[in-house]
Amino acid sequence: MRIIVHKARCQGHARCSAQAPDVFRLDDEGYILPGDIEVGEGEQLLASRGARSCPERALELDRTPAARG
Ligand code: SF4
Repeated sequence: MRIIVHKARCQGHARCSAQAPDVFRLDDEGYILPGDIEVGEGEQLLASRGARSCPERALELDRTPAARG
């Protein structure tokens, strides 16, 4: 699974990282780092929770077959 990061939408709420700190890395000011995130097998549940918790919809789950893994 991959998470597409829409960095421009991020408002630094840090809710994603509160759910899954190993998946969602923030910069010093609490904003998500740019670049899509490849999610490992064991982290998918936490990662999807974190993505859904973003109030700005900055984190989009990509479940297309090519992104599964
Ligand atoms: S929850 Fe959303 S707005 Fe908050 S840091 Fe994460 S990506 Fe940014």
